Formats: sequence, C-alpha cells, structure tokens
Amino acid sequence: MLFYGYNLCVMNTTSSSASRRVLLLTTAKTYRAQPFLEAAERLGLEVLKAIDMPGALAEFWNTPLGIDFADLEQATRAIVDLAYRQPFEAIVSVDDSGSLLAARASAALGLPHNSPDAAEAARNKHRMRTLLARGGVPVPDFKLFSTGDDPRQVAAQVEYPCVIKPLMLSGSRGVMRADDPDRFVAAVDRLKSLLLSLDPAPAPKSFLVERFIPGFEVALEGILDHGRLKVLALFDKPDPLDGPFFEETIYVTPSRLPHEVQSAIADCVASAAAALGLREGPMHAELRVNAAGPWIVEVAGRSIGGLCSRTLRFGSDASLEELILRQAFGLEIESLSRENRAGGVMMIPIPDTGLLRRVEGVPEAQAVPGIEEIQITAKLNYPIVPLPEGDSYLGFIFARGETPDQVEAALREAQRRLRFAIEPSIPLLAILPQV
Ligand code: ADP
Repeated sequence: MLFYGYNLCVMNTTSSSASRRVLLLTTAKTYRAQPFLEAAERLGLEVLKAIDMPGALAEFWNTPLGIDFADLEQATRAIVDLAYRQPFEAIVSVDDSGSLLAARASAALGLPHNSPDAAEAARNKHRMRTLLARGGVPVPDFKLFSTGDDPRQVAAQVEYPCVIKPLMLSGSRGVMRADDPDRFVAAVDRLKSLLLSLDPAPAPKSFLVERFIPGFEVALEGILDHGRLKVLALFDKPDPLDGPFFEETIYVTPSRLPHEVQSAIADCVASAAAALGLREGPMHAELRVNAAGPWIVEVAGRSIGGLCSRTLRFGSDASLEELILRQAFGLEIESLSRENRAGGVMMIPIPDTGLLRRVEGVPEAQAVPGIEEIQITAKLNYPIVPLPEGDSYLGFIFARGETPDQVEAALREAQRRLRFAIEPSIPLLAILPQV
C-alpha cells in the first residue's frame, strides 16, 4: 500500500522549532531506537520515525508511517513521497532491518548514503564473502550449498573443521562448527529445520560453508565518512569462541592487543569497507586474529547491536548514536574520541531451553565494584531458546573501570552472582493422551 495522506509521526524533540530533520527507520521491537531519539534531542534534530510493519497491519492500527521494509519498491516510494511533504536531510536505519531501504531511498532522493549494492552485500554473507575475496581481503575459503543438496555428498566435499551458516540471519543464529562429516550432516539438518521454521516455503534454502578460522576474536566499531574509516572502539572478546555454537558473551574495550595488531585490524576493516563499497555511516566488523594476521568474519553497515552501544561514550558524554547522527548531518566527529576509562558488556547467554521462572542475585551482582547496570531483558514465564536456534539473550551487564582487566573481572563476578531458574518445557506430545 502507499501512504498518500498518511498521518505523520513527527516527534519534535526540542522545545525550540528544530530546522533540521532526520528520518529514522526502526522496528517495533528494537532496543536501538531510543538511544537515537535521545541523541537527536541532544543535537536539536527533529525526528520522523518510520516503523517496519506489513502494510495491512499499518492500515488496521492506523500506525503513523508504518512501512513494510521488505517491500523495497513501495517503501522507497513512500519515503520519497514523504520527503516532498516533510523534507529531511538524512535517513538513518537504527539496525540492519532498514539498512537496504535507507540506501535505496537515499539514492532516490540524492542523500549521501551507502549505495544499495553495498548495503545488500553487507547483509548477505555469500555476497559479502565474494566481494571481500575479490578485493583481496583475508577471508576463509567458502562455498555456497543448498538444503536441497544431499548432505552426505556435500559433507564429502568440504574441508574440516568448517563453519556452516545461513546467509541472512544475525547474532550467530544458525552458525555451527563441524569437525567431521557426521557432525556436518547433523548440523545441516539442524540448520534446515531452523530455516524451515522461519520460512515454511518448501523451496531449498542456500547456506554457506567456510573454513574454521582459529584465533582470538575482536569487534571493531567505526564510522565511515566519505569512504574514510574512523575507528571508534576495538573490543576484545576474551571468551574462546571455538564452537560448536558461537554465543557472544563479553566485549571489553580498549583492546589489550599490541598496538601494531590493532593497526593491522583497522587496515583490514578499511579494506573490507572499500571492497564492499561501504562509504558512509556506521560500520561494525567482527574479526579473528591469528599468526597469519586479521581475518574478516563479518562486516556490517550498521552499529553494534542490542544494548551494547551503552558501553561507549565519546568527547563530552556523546553516545555512539550521536556520532552516527553527527556524521549523517556533516557535523564534526573527528575530535570526538572514546573516553579514557575501560568499558565492557556481557551478553548473558541462554543456557537451556525452557520457561524462565525466576531471576535471583541481581542486587548482589549490581553491588560488584565497577558494575554500572544490569538489564534482564528475557521475560519471566516466557519460553527461552539458546543458540543456534534462539535469537536473544537473558540480558546485559555493563561495567566500567580503570583497566580492561578490571572490567572483565567485574563482568564475570556479576554473572557468577546471577541465578536463572529455567523450567524445562514439556514437549506438547508428552502430555497429550497416547492413542
Ligand atoms: P552472524 O552475522 O549471525 O553473527 P557470523 O558470520 O558473524 O554470523 O558468525 C557468528 C560467529 O561465529 C562469529 O562471531 C564467530 O565467532 C563464529 N564464526 C563465524 N564464521 C567463522 C569462521 N569461518 N571461523 C571461525 N569462527 C567463525
């Protein structure tokens, strides 16, 4: 559906009449919108907020500027139409969900942004690997397969250890390591079920198989301005991520890696951005580092996910989102560097499938020196599912301290004090009368 005559969700974020306006692409469930709204307020920007939802639902709920982000043609037209009525200077997607639409609509309106091709490449793992390899960026060997292929035959063609992953999911969902053909076949079977649960259409689905890269993992948060990368933070991930599943836990910045390794990582990310054609806005990269140097695991044209950006403060208390908006509006970012203290976050992984009944020990965990905040995001009495099928965490622990070691120790101690009562869920079939 088109949105002629829609009722705009105009959030005037300042008491004075703001003259500069941004269109924020967001979703109903994301944690990422609020920090952008707060940053816009600090900068005195007016925000138009478009929310991703199916057209029929937007109509039914009379949602102001509800747009189906997946329907790129219509959504782009809706945004172009909006720009005639309420001109804005930048389109910012708060996360991956709207990055392609932001690129398409910006191109249609002549606003500075990543090209749609670059945005697409950063979302599709096979396209990304292909462009990175073509650009001479270190990536593991990779090959595309389909759930329609005979898994035994595929298992005989790949080298071990390898990693199996879906093309378009995120947060390590569906990513599995296999060390031999039997485990490979089991992993493909599991990925097939996961993909079918998300898209029941019987057509075969593609997946990627790549060599397992041993090494230490880091994440780089940066911002691109006219193709130049400014590194905002480099996070160490001190817990080993060796599989079979790859749940993120601790991120700590600044990195404790030697200076020259950090420079090599920044250079590798800059060449990855160039290979994909990413030129403007936030950039998040995951890398592995070993004796051969840094390897790109993933590059995305978005900022760090979940609540993790709370670990970062720049200049005089600016947030990451403020820097993203500043860059989009051509405001000064060069002099804004990360605060001197160390910071970190623990994404609390889900250990078992079941119903989350109780969370205990939050005050004790909160009392650990250096702990700033604990957010339990999983809902009580709701089912929780661990990786590789799940797509969330139990919550987040935030810490700050003088050194990265102190921050890491505080995060571990706080997690040790938390207790989660998870009741195994009874499979429905077990309680149905047997016939
Ligand atoms: P997602 O976008 O779902 O996070 P990634 O491709 O970034 O998927 O993979 C998730 C995690 O899996 C990575 O952070 C890393 O720990 C691990 N991983 C992925 N690919 C490899 C690989 N080729 N070698 C080693 N570890 C990998």
